[in-house]
Amino acid sequence: MTRLMNNYGRLPLVITTAAGSYVTDEQARRYLDFTSGIAVCNLGHRPAAVEEAVQAQLQQVWHTSNLFENRLQEKVAASLVVGIGAPGKVFFCNSGTEANEAAIKLARKYTGKETIVSFEQSFHGRTYGAMAATGQAKIHNGFGRLLAGFDYLPFNDSAALIEKLTTDDAIAAVMLELVQGEGGVYPADSTFIDTLVQLCTAKKILIIVDEVQTGFGRTGELFATQQYQFVPDIMTLAKGLANGIPAGAVFAKPAVASAFTPGTHGSTFGGNYLAMAAAEAVLTTLTTTGFMAEVRQKKCLFYGTIKRNRKC
Ligand SMILES: *Cc1c(COP(=O)(O)O)cnc(C)c1O
Repeated sequence: MTRLMNNYGRLPLVITTAAGSYVTDEQARRYLDFTSGIAVCNLGHRPAAVEEAVQAQLQQVWHTSNLFENRLQEKVAASLVVGIGAPGKVFFCNSGTEANEAAIKLARKYTGKETIVSFEQSFHGRTYGAMAATGQAKIHNGFGRLLAGFDYLPFNDSAALIEKLTTDDAIAAVMLELVQGEGGVYPADSTFIDTLVQLCTAKKILIIVDEVQTGFGRTGELFATQQYQFVPDIMTLAKGLANGIPAGAVFAKPAVASAFTPGTHGSTFGGNYLAMAAAEAVLTTLTTTGFMAEVRQKKCLFYGTIKRNRKC
C-alpha cells in the first residue's frame, strides 16, 4: 500500500538513473525521455556543466538564508537580465507557483490596484493566488472561495481585451502565457499581443508574462517574449531555470521592482546556493555554447517535416 497521497496519476515505472536524453528503470530497461520532467530538464538529464557546478557548490556552502548578501544570486540575476535583454531586477523563489504569487503581489503593490486579468485555459499554479489566476474550473473545484480580484477573458480575443481594458479602471495587470501550456498548447497570436502591449502601455496596466514553461529555450528563443519582441513589466520563471534543482524567479522592470522593499516579500529557500549554482551553469550553457543555434536548427527539422510550407 502506498503512503503517498493520491493527487497524481502515476505511471507504473520507476526511473533509477538518467543521463542526457535517456532514463533507465528498475528492470534496467532504457527509455528515450520525451517528457523532460515537464519542461524542466531542457539540457537533458545531468548535463556535465550543471552537475559539476552543483558538486563544487556542495563542498562550499548550501544555505545561508537571505539575511546575508549572496554573490551567486547576484550573478544569476545579472545573467537573467542579460538574457532578457532589458534593465530589471530579480527575486528568487523555488517554484513556478511561487514566482506567480510574487508577481501578483508585486503588481498589486506597485499599482495600488487589485484586479488581475488572465485568460481561459491558462495555467499559473496550484497555490491560492496562482490558482485564482488560472482560468480553469477543474483546477478551482472543491477548494472554497478563491482569492478575489481575478477576471478571465477568452484567449486571443482582441475585441474582448479592448472592451475590458478600456472600461475597467481597477486593473493592476494582465497575466498570460505566450503559449498556453497545460491548457492545451495554444500560442498567442502576434496581433493579439500587439493590441495587448499598446493598450497596457496607454492605460498604465502592467503585463505579467508567465514564462515558467516557455522559458529557457523551449520556443526557439531564450524566452518566448523574444519571439513577440516585447519586454513585459514582470516575467515569471521556474521549470528549466536550474534543470531539475528546484528554483523559481521573478524579473521586473526597475520601477516595478522597487515596490518590493525590505519586509514586503520573501522566501527562506529562495535563491538557495545549490539552485543558484545550477541556474548559473544552465544560463551559461544556454547563452555561450551554441545550444540555442542547435535548438533553432532542430525546430526547422520539425517544421520541415510537420508543416513544409512554414518558414523557420
Ligand atoms: C508548471 C507551470 C506553473 C507552476 O509551476 P510549479 O513549479 O509546478 O509551481 C506555472 N505556470 C506555468 C505556465 C506552468 O507551466
